[in-house]
Amino acid sequence: MPTDLVAALDIGGTKIAGALVDDRGRILLRTQRPTPAREDGDTVMRAVEDVLGELAAGEPWAQVRAVGIGSAGPVDASAGTVSPVNVPGWRGYPLVERVRAATHGLPVELVGDGVAMTAAEHWQGAARGHDNALCMVVSTGVGGGLVLGGSLHPGPTGNAGHIGHICVDLDGDPCPCGARGCVERIASGPNIARRALDAGWRPGPDGDTSAAAVAMAARAGDPVATASFDRAAQALAAGIAATATLVEIDIAVIGGGVAMAGDVLFAPLRRALRDYAALSFVRQLTVAPALMGTDAGLVGAAAAALRAFPDPAVPRLRSAVNG
Ligand SMILES: [Zn+2]
Repeated sequence: MPTDLVAALDIGGTKIAGALVDDRGRILLRTQRPTPAREDGDTVMRAVEDVLGELAAGEPWAQVRAVGIGSAGPVDASAGTVSPVNVPGWRGYPLVERVRAATHGLPVELVGDGVAMTAAEHWQGAARGHDNALCMVVSTGVGGGLVLGGSLHPGPTGNAGHIGHICVDLDGDPCPCGARGCVERIASGPNIARRALDAGWRPGPDGDTSAAAVAMAARAGDPVATASFDRAAQALAAGIAATATLVEIDIAVIGGGVAMAGDVLFAPLRRALRDYAALSFVRQLTVAPALMGTDAGLVGAAAAALRAFPDPAVPRLRSAVNG
């Protein structure tokens, strides 16, 4: 009988997922709702409460001692608020307070979704056993998180490791964040597709102009599609090399839809890393695909809660989140 259970919430622009997760990262119960992203803030919160209500309906809920939330960003973990770009009804929304109220006072840990994914990969996935790691999600946007000295490093507001918005092209295109030449502006799925289209790539009969379609064309040898992925790989490599040089990570784990391109992305990425990660202490840096898939958000939110609120009655597992 597990004695150490947490509730996990994974909140994004399209769905709100919830689960009960034990101290080995096993998901005991899960549920989800579509995010009513166009509605007002309280309507979105009611969907969160529905998810929590479903989790709380079963017997295991009595053993839940904390809630972990991984949310689309920006988040402010120090204030307990979230302002997800794709959920306009939530701006500075006091999510931690509301979830605490909905769970009758359980302690609540909030992290950004990039940090949650990182916690999951460090606990159970491709960064397991690595004390210093950068984990990234490359999809519609580019997010990430850091493990430093064996511990998750969310930073004061829960956003540390936000590699998508560091500049790798000084005079590059303006980025929606306000800066220019950001990693995300070059390496996200929509930007890979846009660059290929601008350079003359055309979709097949199905009209699919997604990054996945560009990846398929690159795999078939299309030079324009290949060049667009090469450019994305360069931007990722520059960001990863900068991170490694600053804080001495030894692995970069990459997940998200764009990572599904496989060698179309990873081969030029490893090549570009040899150019940018030049100093002796970063040359051993490896790059690996993420392993946790779509459960990363839930497992990572649970990991963050277990880390923030360790149960003194339960001996720490060697593989536990905090290393
Ligand atoms: Zn940016």
